[in-house]
Amino acid sequence: MLTNHYDYLIVGSGLFGATFAYCAKQAGKRCLVIDKRPHLGGNIYCEEIEGIHVHKYGAHIFHTNNKEVWDFVNSIVPFNRYTNCPVANYHGELYNLPFNMNTFHQMWGVVTPTEAETKIAEQKAEAMSALHGREPQNLEEQALCLVGRDIYEKLIKGYTEKQWGRPCTELPAFIIRRLPVRMVYDNNYFNDAYQGIPIGGYNRLIESLLEGVDTLVNTDFFADRQKWENIADKIVFTGKIDEYYNYCFGTLDYRTVRFETETIDTANYQGNAVINYTDRETPYTRVIEHKHFETFGQAVYDNPKTVISREYSTEWGEGMEPFYPINNQRNTQLYEQYKQLADHETRVIFGGRLAEYKYYDMAPIIEKVLELEM
Ligand code: FAD
Ligand code: UDP
Repeated sequence: MLTNHYDYLIVGSGLFGATFAYCAKQAGKRCLVIDKRPHLGGNIYCEEIEGIHVHKYGAHIFHTNNKEVWDFVNSIVPFNRYTNCPVANYHGELYNLPFNMNTFHQMWGVVTPTEAETKIAEQKAEAMSALHGREPQNLEEQALCLVGRDIYEKLIKGYTEKQWGRPCTELPAFIIRRLPVRMVYDNNYFNDAYQGIPIGGYNRLIESLLEGVDTLVNTDFFADRQKWENIADKIVFTGKIDEYYNYCFGTLDYRTVRFETETIDTANYQGNAVINYTDRETPYTRVIEHKHFETFGQAVYDNPKTVISREYSTEWGEGMEPFYPINNQRNTQLYEQYKQLADHETRVIFGGRLAEYKYYDMAPIIEKVLELEM
């Protein structure tokens, strides 16, 4: 049963909206959260298939260096010890990621950091001499200068071209400028101090954040804009900023991911949560086996079935999920125009990845909300 009037109408029940609602409730405010999807949670929502929490909108691994954020999420629901260690499959050859001593051993048979450094230095020197003193002009040149030809051709080129839909020679160098190269045997993909998955899945996190808050699903703000604008003193908007302003300056572009999800009659399909397919010929970029996010060791065999998702990186179009903002000149300028309008709003807070047209990991979303005055 809805109240007549709220302090906040929150448009979008993703991590931004749900965390905001939680903090506002703690501050004694009345909130209504609406979402146009048939479920709460936005992109971290999991669908249960064969007792497995399937990350419906892409694999989500929570990681942060911020102890305040880590303590906050763990106070809502405890997190497990999942550590992301993706494996790369190049035409059946397996390599550990990120690039570390295990990768170098698998690539060249080197054993010590000195041997690996010598090998990488040789390959880098070859790439640098081809540039004749000029700066790397594109992603290919940059990657060759950072890690050399062997790693570039087997682990970077195919994956990156599938992900961005363009040849590496046409992609900007900066995308790969901070490529981590580790001279230790450490397959942990992230450098952060804290990482994991909520015990019981992400839906439990969202349900706990929204406990005691009024929520409506299948409810699009724009279907009855006037009604929703009048139902609260303030609005927290986490949808697309260009849609909020009726696309008055034009449409912002995105890249998206298409998932092909399959249930398989085997307990353990690939032995890891994430396998990247780094060759150009395999049409998908990676395969996720969802049970490995939450079950470890022998427990994997308690369920005789498993669920996998193949990920295809795709150009975004009408009716598709807008996942990754494209921060090129056109979109950056367009967003700035919308932001100028947003900055003049007195009763609307724009937050989250769609309203700020910014790629956000989960932890920075929470950090941002915790900084806000309710
Ligand atoms: P969203 O989750 O998108 O929520 C916005 C909500 O608003 C949606 O539910 C939408 O339905 C609703 N909405 C929009 N318009 C309207 C409207 N008009 N009316 C009503 N409701 C509306 N982060 C990590 O930290 N680790 C990871 O491993 C990771 N992996 C990712 C993988 C992929 C493929 C993607 C795309 C993102 C990943 N992220 C990851 C980022 C993470 O998904 C985001 O940080 C987080 O979901 C952002 O939350 P949000 O609330 O801003 O947006
Ligand atoms: N990358 C790569 N090979 C891999 C994984 C990543 O070349 O096996 C490159 C690729 O260019 C990608 C970038 O590193 O765009 C960032 O990868 P990350 O996994 O951090 O990003 P995500 O896939 O989550 O967008």
